[in-house]
Formats: sequence, structure tokens, C-alpha cells
Amino acid sequence: MAMAKEQLIENVVGRVLSLLGEEGASSCGYEKVDEAVAAAGAAQKAWQWDFSLEARMRVVDRLRRDLLEGDVIREVSALALEETGMGRLDDKLIKKRLAVEKTPGPEFFATKAVSGDHGLVLEELSPFGVIASITPSTNPVASVFNNTLCMISGGNGVVFAPHPGAVKSTLRALEHVTRSLEASGAPSGLVTTLTQPSMENLGLLMEHRGIQLISATGGPGVVRAALSSGKPAVGAGPGNPPVVVDETADLRAAARDVILGCSFDNNLPCIAEKELFAVNCIADELKKHMLESGAFELKDPKDVGKLMELTLRGDAPNKACVGKSAPWLLEQIGLKVGGDVRVILVETPEDHPFVQVEMLMPVLPLVRVADFDEALAASLRAEHGFRHSAAIHSTHVVHMSRMARAMETTIFTKNAPSYASIGVGGDCPTAFTIATTTGQGPTTPLSFCRTRRCLLHGAFRIV
Ligand code: NAD
Repeated sequence: MAMAKEQLIENVVGRVLSLLGEEGASSCGYEKVDEAVAAAGAAQKAWQWDFSLEARMRVVDRLRRDLLEGDVIREVSALALEETGMGRLDDKLIKKRLAVEKTPGPEFFATKAVSGDHGLVLEELSPFGVIASITPSTNPVASVFNNTLCMISGGNGVVFAPHPGAVKSTLRALEHVTRSLEASGAPSGLVTTLTQPSMENLGLLMEHRGIQLISATGGPGVVRAALSSGKPAVGAGPGNPPVVVDETADLRAAARDVILGCSFDNNLPCIAEKELFAVNCIADELKKHMLESGAFELKDPKDVGKLMELTLRGDAPNKACVGKSAPWLLEQIGLKVGGDVRVILVETPEDHPFVQVEMLMPVLPLVRVADFDEALAASLRAEHGFRHSAAIHSTHVVHMSRMARAMETTIFTKNAPSYASIGVGGDCPTAFTIATTTGQGPTTPLSFCRTRRCLLHGAFRIV
């Protein structure tokens, strides 16, 4: 009898624990699109109308604190690495911390007021409502932290649609978000996610009447789909960032910065240096410094051929190699190198696929050019008009200025690793959704809001 009672208690405790676990795991996750949107819709209304600015600020501050506390960042970073098999743990920790600490919050908003002979006009940024946020496999957790902070700071609710290859880590990141939001009294369901992000569900989500804005971060397919939905969209598409080093650059610093930027998270960031154009007269010295800074040069044409066979599938990268480390890639073609090798450097002509394809792995083609003009022309061709990102290392003011203007990229970095432009050692807020196609640029809470005007005729000017 005693045994039966003990067994019963054990069973009940086990069931309660498992229910708690399940609830924790699914409190923000929904199989059905309708349910995810309905939950976010109800919560968003309460968030917009029942929460003062001060209350929203408190919720967002607490969310930042909770995500930075204990082991959260390490846990979700390790999970993203394990699930996707892409990137480097040390860099993933930096990315998540950056997303939590340097994403702007509700304090970013300022009301615009114009007073004149006819009275007063106010312009304020108002939430769209519920945003469908479609996130990439290359950045699953940092995008979720960054988008959540931006979107709810502007008074919106969110339904995330994770990449099918990153559902587990996205869900886990959102569980931490949800736990914090609930603990600080934010409306339940403000941030939800689909647990079955099939193409069919993505279509249903984008077309859903309860979705007022689509945020699409990824390759050309998802941006095209968002723009064809007929809804307002924030389209953050692909890039292929060139970096130029001219004859006036500090070559040691340029070599170090190019290696650091190119190898950050094994080249997964869309802003990371993907091809290098070096002016011929400094190319050898630059290469020497790069080899001292973590590059390994692949010279034998047979090895280069093997690397191409391994890493390319037609005019796209082999997905199995995206975000893999330089030593891992080299090992696959039979070369063993130390763990301190961060980048595989290959001298190529301009029309080589390593130059023209967005590889998303630490394979850096170096193209020799006669002068800055040739470097600029080749950079424009390699960027393919994405208007995403580009960089230069130079002390020549005219070169820097000409390239910044000609590239017309959303982000242009001078004399620093590309990641400085999202706040790692750069004085700017961070963004993991860089709206290239639709033009909002590196997104902030303002990017997810709409402008509304309110006019009072005949009064309220005080001077
Ligand atoms: P991806 O395009 O394969 O997937 C991104 C998201 O879009 C996923 O959630 C996926 O399920 C969804 N998706 C893909 N095709 C779709 C379609 N036809 N209709 C609807 N949804 C679709 O991208 P990825 O491989 O996960 O990420 C890498 C790409 O994302 C690179 O091109 C990179 O440059 C780009 N990226 C851009 C930014 C930016 O801010 N501009 C940030 C990160 C990544």
C-alpha cells in the first residue's frame, strides 16, 4: 500500500514537472498560425493602450536584465551552434550580448512638433500592430532578441517564423523572453512563435488579416515573398560585401581587421567581408600581415579545385559548409591546420565564384587590382546591386569618400572590421535586421512604426 502511494506521488510529481516543462516550452510556441496571431493580437492591444511609456520602459529594461543574467546567453548560443552546426561559440556570445545591450528601446522615440501661425502639428510614431518576423538560420537567436526589443519598444506584438533549421534554439530564446515578459506583467502572448514554420504556414502567416507588417530577414526568396504579400514590409536581404585595401592603408591594421571581420562567426553575418580587392603594389605586404593574423593561404590549384568542389553547388554555397570553420573546411580537403587559422585566403581572378557568390564561410578571395579605380569598379560588380555593405581600408580621404558614395550601400565601414558597423567597437546601436531592399536601413524601434500626424488649428503656440 505504502509503495503504491509513493508510486502515485512520484507519478503525479513527474506529470506536474513534465506539464510545467511542456508549458515552459510551448508558452510562446503555436502550431497553428491563427492561434499565434490571435494571442499576439490580443496582447498587443493591451500593450499599446494599457501600458504607460514608463511601464513599457520597465518591461524592456527587465527583459534586458533577465537575458543578461545567469547562463541564458551561453545556453542559447550553445544551442544555436548545436542545432545549426554553423558559427563560433565565442562570437555567438558577443552577438547575443550585443543584441541585448545595444538594441535601442522605447527611449529612442521623440515626438516631432511644429508650431506656426495656424496652431500646432504633432507627428508621432505609432505601432503597426502585430508583426510577422521571419528570421534566418544564420542568426536565429540574435535576430530574435534584436527584433523583440525593437518591435515591442514601438508598441507592437510579434509572431516569429523561425527558419526550419533553427526552431529549437529560436523557441528556447523566446521561452526566456516570455518568462521575463510574464514576470514583469506584460500581456501574455505579446511575443509568440510558430513551431511548424513550413512554407504553407509562412504563406498563411504573411496573408493573415491579423498581421499588419512583415519583417523578412534572409535571402532573396523570403524578401520577394514579403514584398509580394501586399502588406507593408521590412525587407532585409542578402549581400556580398567587398572590402578594398589601397596603397595608403595602414597595412598591418587592415590585415588584422579584414581577418577579424571576415572570420566573425565563421563569416555568417550578412555584413561580413566576403571578397578582398587589394591594390597590386601593396598586395604582397598585405598578404604577409594577413598570414600573421590568422589567414592560411591555399596556393595549389589542385587544393583550390577541391575547395570549390566542396563548398559550391552551382552558383550557391554548399549549405553543409556554410558557417563552418577554416580548419574544418581544410580538413575536408585533406589539409590539417591549427585551430588558430581563422580564414582561408585564395588569390583569384575577379570572375571567380568565391568572389561572386555570397559564400557565408571563412573563404576569402583576394583579387589584385591595378589601382583604386579598378578596385571600386570590381567592388560594384561583386556587390551585385544589393546595396547592402562594403568596406575600405585607406587613409586617402578622396578614395574613402568616392567609394562610400559610389557603392550606395546601406552600411559602409572605413578602417575597421565590418562588425564595428553594428556596434562591436563602433559607436552605433546594433541591428540584426538590416533593411536593404526596403530602405529602412539598420533597423531600430522606429523602423517598425508608422508616422501619424495630429493637427490643432488656432492654438497652442506659446510664443
Ligand atoms: P533563407 O532565405 O534561407 O531563410 C530566411 C528565412 O526565410 C527562413 O525563416 C526561411 O524559412 C524563410 N524563407 C526562405 N525562403 C522563403 C520563401 N520563398 N518564402 C517565405 N519564406 C521563406 O536565409 P538563411 O540561409 O537562413 O540566411 C542567410 C541569408 O540571409 C543570407 O543571404 C544573408 O545575407 C541574409 N541575411 C540578411 C540579413 C540582413 O539584415 N539584411 C541578416 C541576416 C541574414
